Amino acid sequence: MAQQPEETHPVQEHRTTTIEQGRFCLARCTCGWQGPARRARSLARTDAEGHLVNTPLA
Ligand SMILES: [Zn+2]
Repeated sequence: MAQQPEETHPVQEHRTTTIEQGRFCLARCTCGWQGPARRARSLARTDAEGHLVNTPLA
């Protein structure tokens, strides 16, 4: 049986960035995850770190 590669989400790693939306800041990841809107970038970064810890790669 041949294994078929998944083509839906070829993400090999989590890469988080913080983006600003108006007055708020939120974290976003290359896997599609997005954190809640925060008023401080530091909080968005904390969300991103938590995502990395709580979402291990397969
Ligand atoms: Zn991710």
